[in-house]
Amino acid sequence: MTEGHSPLRYVSTRGSGPVDFRAATLSGLAPDGGLFMPDRWPESEPLFRRTAGAGYVETAAHVLTRLGGDSLPIGASSELAADAYRTFLHPEVAPVRRLRDGLHLLELFHGPTLAFKDFALQVLARLFDRFLELDGRRALVLCATSGDTGAAAIEACRGRRAMAIVVLHPEARIAPLQRRLMTTVDDPAVFNVAIEGTFDSCQSLVKQAFADEVLRRECGLLAVNSINWSRIAAQAAYYVHAANRIGGPPPVFAVPSGNFGDCYAGHVAACMGLGVAGLIVGTNRNDILARFFETGRYHPGTVHRTLSPAMDIQVASNFERLLYEIRDREPDAVQRDMAGLARGQAICVTARERAETGKRFKGSMVTEDQTIHTMRDIRDLCGVQIDPHTAVGIAAARLAGALDRNYRATAAPVIALATAHPAKFPDAVRQALSEEPETPEPLARCMEAPERVTTLPADYTRLADHLRRAAAAAVPAP
Ligand SMILES: *Cc1c(COP(=O)(O)O)cnc(C)c1O
Repeated sequence: MTEGHSPLRYVSTRGSGPVDFRAATLSGLAPDGGLFMPDRWPESEPLFRRTAGAGYVETAAHVLTRLGGDSLPIGASSELAADAYRTFLHPEVAPVRRLRDGLHLLELFHGPTLAFKDFALQVLARLFDRFLELDGRRALVLCATSGDTGAAAIEACRGRRAMAIVVLHPEARIAPLQRRLMTTVDDPAVFNVAIEGTFDSCQSLVKQAFADEVLRRECGLLAVNSINWSRIAAQAAYYVHAANRIGGPPPVFAVPSGNFGDCYAGHVAACMGLGVAGLIVGTNRNDILARFFETGRYHPGTVHRTLSPAMDIQVASNFERLLYEIRDREPDAVQRDMAGLARGQAICVTARERAETGKRFKGSMVTEDQTIHTMRDIRDLCGVQIDPHTAVGIAAARLAGALDRNYRATAAPVIALATAHPAKFPDAVRQALSEEPETPEPLARCMEAPERVTTLPADYTRLADHLRRAAAAAVPAP
């Protein structure tokens, strides 16, 4: 099933391009500061239907090839997906567990770091390897993390000869276990930096580094934050997989959201032809997304610490992709919006535009109390421990009316994305359930090992020095 016209290309939300999938993957953020978007949605409904009984690897390979176009033939993506998901601890990769009438849990935490970010990053690191090798290049991966990205990126990049990796995390604003998953990796090409600031300071330092042409070229900087289109492409696959697994009418997906990459991937699957009844955008108190979908106004607040720290974010990077669609793919309009935002102005959409996005997305803000109660209810009703992020998604589905008081689906079946293993957040589990989470093997291992981390102020010059040293250290002896 090929289109009768030119191969799929990627354009920036701020106007540059078109480029192919390979260039979009290697560049991460577009040179003009925008995010890459496919120039059209590759219609895939017949393919999804035909491959409904396929295993996870096959589904992922098809989705990647549809979005990779001529950069990623099916043979290459099959090999890549098989290799990436071999690192997972569950034979089904992403099992779907039935919790209640019409409520299903999509378990995305069986990867090497026990969180859903492994799905995208195990693929992304292998795409880098493949595309760098074609160019004979070396690179320094740079990313910011408030939670699971860093560990997943390190697990995906360690031991790959063409790459070193630097991960920034906000000092003292990350769960100890999550930090240890990163800082205990003993590899000369893995560098952890604790920044004296919030996740948003980390993310803005990363943006500054990528905007610094000289440094970028000198170090061969590569991005793995969820602004990288390939991550979205890899994540779209589990929406297809989960919908196929439960069968029946189009489901609603409940998605705990921060940077909006995960939920946007569900939108991508729907745009490619997957039947989706709706996407519920669950946020914690850091509710910029929930507020946007409720009011049509996008405006950052201050960052609060919550029980679901991977979503303690007030700038949802992938929002710009949806904005681009709302602005009818007009880069000038997006540029104006983003420039206004940088000056502290809100981005506003019309009532009609809000009604249009409301057909697909529903936002709900979930309090800390509601998070705790949901963890408790699901344990009591279903005998299952869930992590606080997953609880935010399920609570949001209830607030949005997709689930009733007893967590039964009210209309369409609900698939709740379980984005992390409960053992990654033992304090929340203890507080909510008064019991210990069971500790899977990868976590037990990292509680023992010594940590390696450098602390830096939120200062770009200091970071740039550090990056140059890291890039140099990464070059292996001849
Ligand atoms: C990153 C993360 C999220 C949020 O995903 P986004 O793509 O940033 O919206 C939710 N839950 C967990 C456990 C995460 O690590």
